[in-house]
Amino acid sequence: MPEGDTVRRTAARLDQALAGCTLVRAELRWADLGAIDLTGRTVLGVAAYGKHLLTRFGGAEHRPAQTLHSHLRMDGSWRIHATGTRSWPAATDHRVRAVLAGPEWTAVGLLLGVLELLPTDAEDSVLGHLGPDIMADGWDVGRLEAVRRISAQPERHIGAALLDQTNVAGIGTFYMAESLFVQRVSPWARAGSIDVPAVLDTARRQLLVSVRHAVPTTTGEKARGRTSYVHGRSGRPCRRCGGTVRVAPVGEPPMDRTAFYCPRCQPGPTPTDPGRPMRPLGSNPPRPFTPRNSYLRESR
Ligand SMILES: [Zn+2]
Repeated sequence: MPEGDTVRRTAARLDQALAGCTLVRAELRWADLGAIDLTGRTVLGVAAYGKHLLTRFGGAEHRPAQTLHSHLRMDGSWRIHATGTRSWPAATDHRVRAVLAGPEWTAVGLLLGVLELLPTDAEDSVLGHLGPDIMADGWDVGRLEAVRRISAQPERHIGAALLDQTNVAGIGTFYMAESLFVQRVSPWARAGSIDVPAVLDTARRQLLVSVRHAVPTTTGEKARGRTSYVHGRSGRPCRRCGGTVRVAPVGEPPMDRTAFYCPRCQPGPTPTDPGRPMRPLGSNPPRPFTPRNSYLRESR
């Protein structure tokens, strides 16, 4: 799932491609937006807030400035290509949710989880509930507010508190796991018992580094399987201590999410981890022995 770094990078690319342009053709393939034609509208810019994307259009006579709000959710993305180098997306392509074509560049929104058009001065209606954007400038002020919000629920598991976008916006399961690993804090430690500013600063630093890479990475490595310390590595050896990385749910069902962690490097409570042996993610489960493959029993 895209997190703050991916969304911010997407916003920068869209802004570079479309800011200042007048759309020559546009299409919104979204239930109640299909009849709206943005052709002729000028794109003022594209910005990110947490995991939210805001494409802003200038106003005109009798028409207010508007914002196209999109969210990538699980699998969404915005792709950009030079206008005219590809045919207009077919109506049958069910992945396409939006097409914004400027004279030079065309942006295609695929599998977006949210798409809505609202007056720019009403952006607060979709962002107002969120905590401070962890990647924003002026983090000194944002950090104070994020710490205040997280500390207001001192009994809550810190992993769940970091994922709660109303506390701080932009952190998903990847940076939650990776920042807690670096800080040697269990995802199930109580928020009131740990150094919250240190964890937030670590997550922010990791996110800002990843904005510059095409692939999110906290280790500085880009090779597949080497981009994280613990995230996605359950059943594999910890890069710091050699112990086995584990995974268990954090947060209240049905909003619970997976938290990867190293029990040795991140000692503390693990209330949802039953302690069963962990098989590396993606490895095949053992096949039951049958008369046809029972020879494997000897060779194993
Ligand atoms: Zn470890």
